[in-house]
Amino acid sequence: PFGLSDRVKSIPPSPTLSIDAKTKELVAQGIDIINLSVGEPDFGTPEPACQEGITAIQEGFTKYTAVAGINNLRKAIAKTLKEEDGVEYEMDDIIVSNGAKHSLFNVFMAVCNPGDEVILPAPYWVSYPEMIRLAGATPVIIETDESTGFKITPELLKNAITSKTKALLLNSPSNPTGAVYTPEELQALAKVIEQHDFYVISDEIYGKLVYDVRQVSIASLSEAMKQRTLLVNGFSKAFAMTGWRLGYVAGDRAVIKAMTTFQSQSTSNPSSISQRAGVKALECFDPQVVEVFRRRRDYILKRIEAMPYIQCIVPNGAFYVFPNVSGVFGKTYQDVTIDSASTFATLLLEKANIALVPGEGFGAPNNIRISYAVSDEDLTKAMDRLETFLQEVK
Ligand code: PLP
Repeated sequence: PFGLSDRVKSIPPSPTLSIDAKTKELVAQGIDIINLSVGEPDFGTPEPACQEGITAIQEGFTKYTAVAGINNLRKAIAKTLKEEDGVEYEMDDIIVSNGAKHSLFNVFMAVCNPGDEVILPAPYWVSYPEMIRLAGATPVIIETDESTGFKITPELLKNAITSKTKALLLNSPSNPTGAVYTPEELQALAKVIEQHDFYVISDEIYGKLVYDVRQVSIASLSEAMKQRTLLVNGFSKAFAMTGWRLGYVAGDRAVIKAMTTFQSQSTSNPSSISQRAGVKALECFDPQVVEVFRRRRDYILKRIEAMPYIQCIVPNGAFYVFPNVSGVFGKTYQDVTIDSASTFATLLLEKANIALVPGEGFGAPNNIRISYAVSDEDLTKAMDRLETFLQEVK
């Protein structure tokens, strides 16, 4: 009868989006909130990519395209993956979708059967567990903390494997921790994966945003790993193209073909205009962006180091820091007891007017996520406010 499906009723709203909604509400009331909960760069889409989008419209390139994306874009992605990651793919090993989020959803739908298990290291990006469940599979969480730099080890991985293991979700650089796996660490994990033979869904969307380290794709380690890896990437973070909705998967051709069939019956091709812009964007990554983010990361770490109660390890990628705030638990601010990261984040929003995301939704209840994809001026003001707040915690 009339009513919602059990499927949608079981999905919690994205916790990053709910903080965002509360922030917008306060902003609408005229309150000066500094928003450190953002997941998108504060700079614009590269001009040549914008121009190409305009040209595409003017040329009438505004119709359906091939479901998996236009040849030029898939060829350009293959070229990028070869030159930058050292992995060789052909056009037919690649499918383009409406953002990496859509790509990930399609991957889970294409490889997971009900009852399958997907190993998911925590802290994790909020959408992974829900997408895995929507595909009928079960997320098997591996807890990690600062002691291993928020990274899993081969031992932790081995302990999580069962006869139902279908895939490991790897997200390096990580949202929310900024952790980046070294080539040696990936090699050690690859050994276990090959031995037990399952997929790696490797979300490398922050791959261009690394500081002091090199980004290495697990797919590039060997032919065996290339066969097992479904490499997910997109245009949102590196090219500031969040609104264009463009992401892709490269991997085993049979999986890509299945994903294309699935996409053909659900969303069809991603926007023709965005695809044209994407071809151009791949040619114009601005390394200056990395320098700007690195400087902000260093600034924020220096400020946090001088503050009471909170501690932060150095993240080597993405645009987030993920400090541990368990030092404030049990303390009070203006007679309110801070009993969790959520309470802490709510107080910060209401009393210090800084929006950031508490760790619970990422499977990390001792931490908070601070995005530094905001202007230097806002970052300075936000750190001043955070410091003042913490000084008043008793
Ligand atoms: N993967 C990670 C780890 C992310 O943080 C995001 C965006 O927040 C995405 C995937 C999805 O990005 P998009 O769908 O905009 O390409």
